[in-house]
Parts: sequence; structure tokens; C-alpha cells
Amino acid sequence: MLFTKYLCVTKHIGSLLNNSSYLYSTSSSSIKIAIVGSGPAGFYTTQKLLKNPDVDVDIYEKLPVPFGLVRYGVAPDHAEVKNVINTFTGVANSDRVNFYGNVNLGTTVAMEDLMEAYHAVVLCYGSAQDKFLDIEGESTTKNTISARNFVGWYNGVPEDKDLKINLDCDTACIIGQGNVALDCARILLKPANLEKTDITSYAQKIIDKSKIRRLYIIGRRGPLQISFSTKELRELIKLNEGRTRIEPEEIFTDYEVNLLKLKKLTRQRRRLTELLLNTSTATIKDRNQLDGIELIFKFLSKPIKIKPDERTGNVKSLVVQRMKFEEEKEFMSETAKPIEMTNELETIDCGLIIRSIGFKAVMIDKSLPIDHRLGAILNTNGRVQGHRNLYCSGWLATGASGVIAGTLNSSHLTAQSILDDINRGDLPNLNRCKKGFSIIKQILDSKSVPVVHFNDWLRIDELERKLGQALGKTREKFVDVEKMLEIVVDKES
Ligand code: FAD
Ligand code: NAP
Repeated sequence: MLFTKYLCVTKHIGSLLNNSSYLYSTSSSSIKIAIVGSGPAGFYTTQKLLKNPDVDVDIYEKLPVPFGLVRYGVAPDHAEVKNVINTFTGVANSDRVNFYGNVNLGTTVAMEDLMEAYHAVVLCYGSAQDKFLDIEGESTTKNTISARNFVGWYNGVPEDKDLKINLDCDTACIIGQGNVALDCARILLKPANLEKTDITSYAQKIIDKSKIRRLYIIGRRGPLQISFSTKELRELIKLNEGRTRIEPEEIFTDYEVNLLKLKKLTRQRRRLTELLLNTSTATIKDRNQLDGIELIFKFLSKPIKIKPDERTGNVKSLVVQRMKFEEEKEFMSETAKPIEMTNELETIDCGLIIRSIGFKAVMIDKSLPIDHRLGAILNTNGRVQGHRNLYCSGWLATGASGVIAGTLNSSHLTAQSILDDINRGDLPNLNRCKKGFSIIKQILDSKSVPVVHFNDWLRIDELERKLGQALGKTREKFVDVEKMLEIVVDKES
């Protein structure tokens, strides 16, 4: 014990003297960093922190299984995106990294416990809360669900497995025009071989029997303000083989959009707009003769009310208010905010509404400073404002926007801030030995909380793949936390 303390002190003095690297190395690393959350941010932050050979990282995850939205968000038919799991597994296999699953920060363990046990804590627990429309009927009408729950349901998030969803209706509306909305739409359009992916079998069966024939994707702004990416939009339009419409149909001609005007846009925005423009002008002889679901991108339509069927309580219709651009030139501006056209309401009859308007972070401790605009933690390059040994990265730091590659950048930026703070001696208590997991273990033991290690996850992973193989699919996920913990306990006994 004394020996370890002596080592800690000597190493940190070494670090400060040398400024950027330690004067000697030892097998007992002593800068202990806790990461909370094992999504891309958790793993990419860890990856970069390991550049300092004296850093040990413990990753805490509330679920028994790792990888966050890579497992529970990325669509089942986009298997190639999930290959980042191989990189994360490589990080987890480092002998300076430990994974502790089934540990929920905020309930099982408090933030101050971690801050006391570690030299630094990095919060990477994502954006697990829905944004709301705040309109009548939103929380009271049956079959009005959030994209987060819908995605969680088909991807096997334990708390979403029992979602009550009814696809026994003719028309569905997805509110919001970002990539999550496209994911939800694509799953409802049933991409080829969906049953062979890692989609949960219970969801697959219900989607297979879906009676939806018409699907609206509704935006409050115009076609030049959508958040979709071109690749995802093209994939969806292609999937439904010509049964795509744009509403209002005249939207492009109303604003006299021509190729000359489009040239002024950024390349990315131009490609996206050309795709929509071509879709809107494509002459389809008789859309209704085609099989499949009719897909309608509806613009300048702000949801204002959800009406229930009085008898069943199920959603009966969505009322939207027509919007317009105050000035014609705003049509071409990505930041334009159209205004309401009073008295111009439209009622869309539908039996299912999926709200896909983004996410925000849960604040697990009242000392955390909130960036209300982003729905994230206030921070500067990952340093949480008002704290010295607390950092954040990923969606918790940036707000719920951006793809995995963007999360890599934000995570590496945060890790660099920590490495710089270590090298400058700015991290408090660097001269104190921190006990890390041994302290947290006492708390977990006192509450009889079983911990899942990375090897336990590998066992769960193997069993899921085997179950999947038997069903002719890549994986069948366990959707009960209890079941996953049983596997871990069985192995130990
Ligand atoms: P998350 O991935 O959300 O990870 C947070 C982790 O923290 C989770 O494991 C969670 O369980 C854990 N956690 C939460 N609370 C606690 C707590 N209290 N204690 C301990 N642990 C906790 N990007 C792409 O590049 N391609 C795609 O195809 C793609 N598809 C997406 C589909 C959906 C539906 C969504 C929502 C996003 C998608 N993204 C995609 C974006 C990508 O998922 C994010 O950029 C990335 O996951 C953000 O990483 P993160 O680590 O910040 O958050
Ligand atoms: P997003 O891209 O921010 O889109 C949210 C949508 O909701 C926008 O169209 C927004 O419109 C709309 N919206 C917000 N508040 C609204 C309100 N009150 N009323 C009506 N509409 C409202 O978010 P997301 O789709 O949740 O995606 C999150 C991130 O994950 C994105 O960066 C996305 O690219 C990424 N992701 C990527 C993939 C992929 O690469 N395949 C898949 C899924 C997700 P306004 O613009 O008018 O606010």
C-alpha cells in the first residue's frame, strides 16, 4: 500500500519535471481515469487517453453490454456501420482498460463517488432523453411514440422491448426530417433481407405484418433545410421504387428553383436538393398501380395537434399548420425559419405517429452546468465548466448531432485536453494515489449489484450469435437485463 503510494508520487513528479512524458515507467500505472458510457465517445476517448502509458482507464456502463448506439441505434440493415465495434473491442482488450457493465451512474453510483475514486472522470453517457413537440395529444394519444422508443424496440433496448406499437393502420406520420426519421421510415418500408439482420425477432414479425400503405415524413421547414444526408435519402427513395411524392407538389416551382440557383449551394446541399428536385419532377405513370408503400415528403408543415379516436384513444389524425417563407430568398437559406400561415390548417388522417425531432442529455447530477440550447453539458474542449477533474465527450458534449466519425473527433479533443492537463500538472490530486475501482466495488457489493466484465460481454456476444445462426440471422439479441446477468452469473458459478 505504502509502496504504491510512493510509486504514484514519484511518477507524477517525474511527469511534471519532464512536462510531456514520464522519466521512467513502471508496470503499475497510477493515473486513474473513469469513463462513464461505453458508446463511441467512451471508447474513442479511451483510445486516445492510452497514448499516455501511465494512464489506466475504467469504463462504466449502465447496461450489461457495451457500444451504446452502435448496438442500440444504428439500423439493423446498416451492418457495415457496426464494424467500429472491432476497433472498440481492440481498445477494451488493452491491459490498461477495464469494462464494468451494469453500473448506472446517478443511481447505482454517484458522481462524487467516482470523482473521489479517480484522478479524472469523463462523462460520455450520450443523449438519452427525447425532445418534445409540446402539442395537444402528444403524450395522451395511443400509438404516438418517439423515434427513440421505436428504434430501441426494433434494436432490442431492454426498456423498449414491450413498446406498444400498432402497425395495423393505413397511414403513418413521421415528424422530423433528420437521418433518424429516415431510419424509421426505411424499417417500415421493409428493406430486403431485414429478417437476416440483428433486428429483434419480435419486431421483425410485427413489421412483416404491417398494413401501412402511406408514410408521411413531415418537416416544419422547406426542402433546403432538411437534415437528411444524401446517401440515406437516396437509399430510401430507391427502396420504394418510384412511389415517392413531395408535398406541396409545386414547392420547387413556386420558388423558381433551377439548376443555376442550385450551383450557388455547397456541394453537399446541392446534391441533396437535386435528388429531391428530381424526385419531385419524375413522371410516374400511375403511382397507385405500384406495389408498396407510398412515401410523401411533406414540407412547411408544423404539427400543432394530435387528435385521438374517441372510442379507442388511438391516434386518428395529425393537424399541421402551413408555414411560409417571409421572403422568397429564404427558401434557399439553410438557416431560414419560415413563419406560420394563420388559419391554414390541414388534417392528415393517420393511425401511427413517430416523433423524430432529436434528443437531449439527462443531467445525472445537479452540479452539472447545462447548455440548454444544445441539450448538453457546458464545456470547453471537453472540460466541464466549473469543475477541475471532470470532462465530457461525444453527444453529451456536442449535443445529439453528428455521426460516429464526428463523435471520434469530439472524443479525441476531450482526451487531448486531459492529456494536456496531466502534462501541465493542472489535474488536481495527481500527487495522490487514487484507488479507482476497488472503492466503487465496495459500493456495488454493499448494494449487491453484479458487475459485467468485458469477457462476460464476449460470452453474451457468442451466445447471441449462436441464437441468431439457428434462426438464419446474424444475431438474436438478449433483451432482458436479468437474462444477460444470468449468463454472467452462470459462468462464475
Ligand atoms: P451513445 O452511443 O449514446 O453512448 C452512450 C452510452 O452511455 C450508452 O452505452 C449508454 O447506455 C451509456 N449510459 C447512459 N447513461 C448512463 C449512466 N447513467 N451510467 C452509465 N452509462 C450510461 N452514426 C453513424 O455514423 N452511422 C449511423 O448509421 C448512425 N445511426 C444512428 C441511428 C440512430 C437511431 C441514432 C440515434 C444515432 C445514429 N448515429 C449514427 C449517430 C451515432 O450513434 C452517434 O454519433 C454516437 O453513438 C454518439 O456516441 P456517444 O458515445 O456520445 O453516445
Ligand atoms: P436531426 O438531424 O437534428 O433532425 C431533427 C429533425 O427534427 C429536423 O428536421 C428538425 O427540424 C426537426 N425538429 C426539431 N424540433 C422540431 C419541432 N419542434 N417540430 C417539428 N420538427 C422539429 O436529428 P436526428 O434525426 O435525431 O439525428 C441525430 C444525429 O444522428 C444526426 O446528426 C444524424 O445525422 C445522426 N444519424 C446518422 C445516421 C446515418 O448516418 N445513417 C442515422 C441516424 C442518425 P428543424 O431543422 O426545423 O429544427
